[in-house]
Amino acid sequence: MLKISDLHVGLTADNNVKILKGIDLDVPSGEVHAIMGPNGGGKSTFANVLMGRPDYQITTGTIEFKGESILDLPPDARAHLGIFMAFQYPVEIPGVRPFQFLKAALDSRADATGQKKLSAREFTKRFDEKVVQVGINANLIKRSLNEGFSGGEKKRNEILQLEILQPVLAIMDETDSGLDVDALKIVAEGVNSQRSPDRSFLIVTHYQRLLNYIKPDRVHILVDGKIVETGGPELAVKVEKSGYKEYLT
Ligand code: ADP
Ligand code: MG
Repeated sequence: MLKISDLHVGLTADNNVKILKGIDLDVPSGEVHAIMGPNGGGKSTFANVLMGRPDYQITTGTIEFKGESILDLPPDARAHLGIFMAFQYPVEIPGVRPFQFLKAALDSRADATGQKKLSAREFTKRFDEKVVQVGINANLIKRSLNEGFSGGEKKRNEILQLEILQPVLAIMDETDSGLDVDALKIVAEGVNSQRSPDRSFLIVTHYQRLLNYIKPDRVHILVDGKIVETGGPELAVKVEKSGYKEYLT
């Protein structure tokens, strides 16, 4: 599904700033991988680079999705392929309601892939069902996207997007941060219910907490721009106990 080799990334605005320093990662179809690590290690940069954010410059390395390089594709083209990212800090978009936003996203993907668009009625049905499932306050969802949402509500809204867009590869950047246990369980249920042989997840998290509810196939520790250790779910438990200090020099 996703194959990354020797990825080096710096800032587009300043060539001297190097953030990712040689990442190799393989995420097979159907697997859930967790990226853990201390703050400032490069987790969000990594997630953003996978999605094609222009602030970051890839100096060496390759990113292949289903066997093809996506390096030259802008974020929307990556989204059309089925790559999705839930943001660590979801942005507020005044004047755009979640309903319109998600309908436009689905329609745009349908156009790009030559699929049939959902009718307004079909989409409304799916949207209303998912709003209930994700537990978003129905009044809130009438507002502009993320405007006035609490931190937890913004994260739930990211899960709503995941549920409606049904991506092939979902990258979740600290979707658990700032959530109470109930919201955490909704995030986990969202991921667990969507686990399938044709879908992969990359779960970026500082804490092991979410991984009590989502059992990853592999756990990677990212420190100072490098993956310093890879293991099974037990690695997350170890890190929860001893922290990241053994990796910091
Ligand atoms: P993490 O998500 O693991 O906490 P980040 O990817 O956010 O780490 O950041 C890694 C490092 O790169 C930090 O030192 C951060 O300050 C720096 N960095 C990331 N993005 C930018 C940016 N757009 N401009 C300047 N520095 C950045
Ligand atoms: Mg981050």
